[in-house]
Amino acid sequence: MPNALVNEFDPNALDQRLMARLTDPTVLVSALGIAGVVRRSASYLGIPCPKGCGGKFCTLGWVKKKGALLWFCPTCRTGGNALQLIARVKGWDIVRDFRRVLREAQRIAGIRSRTTT
Ligand SMILES: [Zn+2]
Repeated sequence: MPNALVNEFDPNALDQRLMARLTDPTVLVSALGIAGVVRRSASYLGIPCPKGCGGKFCTLGWVKKKGALLWFCPTCRTGGNALQLIARVKGWDIVRDFRRVLREAQRIAGIRSRTTT
């Protein structure tokens, strides 16, 4: 069933377009309503672990080399990209609720969905 959902567009192309827009960690945390955010540098924020392990020093930042907004929790050693962060915070499954995660990411990035539903 996840296949049926992603076949209507090129998920790679969409991801790249999305990831290119999701570069500002402050936009992401405010859109997701993440509390307890600490600025660590110009492009990095410290956020409470989105997995809920209790770690307070999870890092969220734009990694130029990888061309994506990535997060990593040194406490539980979990990490991922912006889509995975959205899924975690919303309590959605990145595979099962992929379409929902994409929609939310598009909303945050200010991209209108091409699908009409
Ligand atoms: Zn953690």
